[in-house]
Amino acid sequence: MNTQRYKKKIQTRLAELQGRLQKVEAALDEPADPDLEDQAIELEDDEVLESVGRAGLKELNLLNAALGRIDKGTYGICTKCGENISDARLDAVLFTMLCRDCANAGPQGPV
Ligand SMILES: [Zn+2]
Repeated sequence: MNTQRYKKKIQTRLAELQGRLQKVEAALDEPADPDLEDQAIELEDDEVLESVGRAGLKELNLLNAALGRIDKGTYGICTKCGENISDARLDAVLFTMLCRDCANAGPQGPV
């Protein structure tokens, strides 16, 4: 399989995520506006930002792990049954470690 294509896609996605996370961090670091009447809105925004950050970090880790598997030559191979994961599935979820059948059968649901 052509893992170089996926390597490029993963690296593009990583760069995107890193850019987004930097913006989230910068926004969280901004001091609260004392003139702002509705502090509750600002608080809510921070919570949204934090959850975006957490989800982003999780994906970042998964993508980095996927890059490691490309280097090891195990990318695109289901860790459960050893079958090749379909291109369509890898395109949809770049960091997936399970083929569609195993993901559907898995206790945690599709990953
Ligand atoms: Zn499988």
